[in-house]
Amino acid sequence: MSRAARRGSDTSGLSEGVPLPDERVADRGGPGAGAAPRLSVADGGSPSDAAVIWSEDFLSYRWTPDHPMNPVRLALTMSLAQSMGILDGVEPDRPFYADDPLLQRVHARSYIDAVRAAGSGMPGMSGETLARLYGLGDIDNPVFSGMHEAASLLVGGTTAAAAAIANGAARRVVNIAGGMHHAMPARAAGFCIYNDAAVAIDWLLDHGFDRIAYIDIDAHHGDGVQYRFLADPRVLTISLHQHPATLWPGTGWPHEVGERDGAGYAVNLPLMPGTPDVLWLRAFHAVVPSLVNAFRPQLIVSQCGVDSHRADPLTDLSLTVDGQRSAMLTMRDLADTHCDGRWLAVGGGGYGVVDVVPRSWTHLIGAVLRRDIDPATPIDESWCARAHAAATELNPAYTAEPVAVMTDGGDTDYVAWDGDAGADPPDGVSERAQQSTDAAIIATRRAVFPYHGLDPEDPRD
Ligand SMILES: [Zn+2]
Repeated sequence: MSRAARRGSDTSGLSEGVPLPDERVADRGGPGAGAAPRLSVADGGSPSDAAVIWSEDFLSYRWTPDHPMNPVRLALTMSLAQSMGILDGVEPDRPFYADDPLLQRVHARSYIDAVRAAGSGMPGMSGETLARLYGLGDIDNPVFSGMHEAASLLVGGTTAAAAAIANGAARRVVNIAGGMHHAMPARAAGFCIYNDAAVAIDWLLDHGFDRIAYIDIDAHHGDGVQYRFLADPRVLTISLHQHPATLWPGTGWPHEVGERDGAGYAVNLPLMPGTPDVLWLRAFHAVVPSLVNAFRPQLIVSQCGVDSHRADPLTDLSLTVDGQRSAMLTMRDLADTHCDGRWLAVGGGGYGVVDVVPRSWTHLIGAVLRRDIDPATPIDESWCARAHAAATELNPAYTAEPVAVMTDGGDTDYVAWDGDAGADPPDGVSERAQQSTDAAIIATRRAVFPYHGLDPEDPRD
C-alpha cells in the first residue's frame, strides 16, 4: 500500500513543494497561501485536499510482546480502512525519520542520546540509572531494539503532516501512529518516547503559524504537550480526560491554566469514570467550541486517542466508537469554521487493539478524507477473520468474534449544557453522573473563560 520509509534523515517522504522540516518558509503570504495544492489523492472523485501518513515501518514501534500498546492496532486500522474503500485512490504519504535538530525542538540532547544508545543495546549506564534519569526501562516504557528510530519515525510522520498543511499541499492530514502526548523533554512516559505532536506544533510556529489549537480527547491527560507550551499563548491546549484523581498521570486539573504569558491557554476538563457519550459530548460542547471561537486558531491539531472507549482495558470512561466519531467530526467542523479547514489529526492511546481502535480510527481516516463512514456500515467478513487471527495470536485465550459493524449503537444525541445544573438527566444517565459532569464543566469554564473575555456562567458563551 505504501512505500517503505528509509532510515537516516530521509525527507523524501515530503513531496516536491512541501517544505522540509528545517526549511523556513519566511515569505509566504500566510498559512496555506500561494501554494498549488499537491494532490495526495489522485483520481477524480477522490479527496483532493487531504492526506494520510503511513508506512509499514510504523509497526516497528513495538514494546514487549505483551505490552498493551501493540502495533497490530495500526495494521488492523489500515486494513479496515482499506476494506471500507475509503483509501481507494489514496496513496499514503511517507513519514521520514526525524533528525536530532527536529527532535531537539522539544527534547534534551542527553535524552535523545540515551534513547539512541539504549535502543542500540549500548546504554552506557545501568538500567537503574536509565530508568531514574529518563524513564526508560520501566514496565510502561521498556527498552526495545531500535526504539530511537521507531519513535523518530512517528515524529517525522506528524511533522510531515504539519509540513503538508503549512505548504498548502493538504488541508487535512492524519497520522494514526502519532499522538505520543506524554513524552517529556527528557523523559519517556506512558508508552511515549518522543512527543511528535509537540515537535510538529513547535515546527509550525516557525513556519507561518502563531495560533494553534491542540485538542486532546485521549482518556489520559495530554500532559507532555501542555507542559511544552505552558507559557506560550500561541498554542491553546485543551485536554478532556478521565479525572486525574482516578487515572495516571494524575495531572489535568481545571486549575492548570498555563503560566506567565500562557495563562488561560491551557485548558483541562476532567471527567469522572463511567462518563458516557452523551455526557462527554455535553462537556466537550460546553467548553471547546467557545474557546476555539475566541482563540481563532489557524490550525487545529487533534490528538484522537481512543482509550476513552468503554471496553478499553486501561481506563474507565464509557464512550463508544460513535461518541468518538462524533467528537472527531466536530473537530473537523471546527477546523472548517475557524481554520479554513486546516486539521492535523493524530492517534494516541487505545488498547482495545482489535475491537475498538481499528473501527474508531477508520472513522477518523474517513473524516480526514471527508469520506465519512455511516456507523451502520457492516464490516467485511475477511477483515473480521484477519482481526480474529490477530487477536488469537496476541492472546490464545481470546475467543470473542470481532465486532462486525462500524457502530456500537452509542447515543450521541447529547443535551447541550445550558447552565442549569438542576435539569433532569436524559434516559440512561444518572442524576449524579450529570451533576458531576456539570460540575466539571463549570469548574473548567470558570478557570479559563475569563482569560478569553467569555462569561463562564453564560451558556451562550
Ligand atoms: Zn491514553
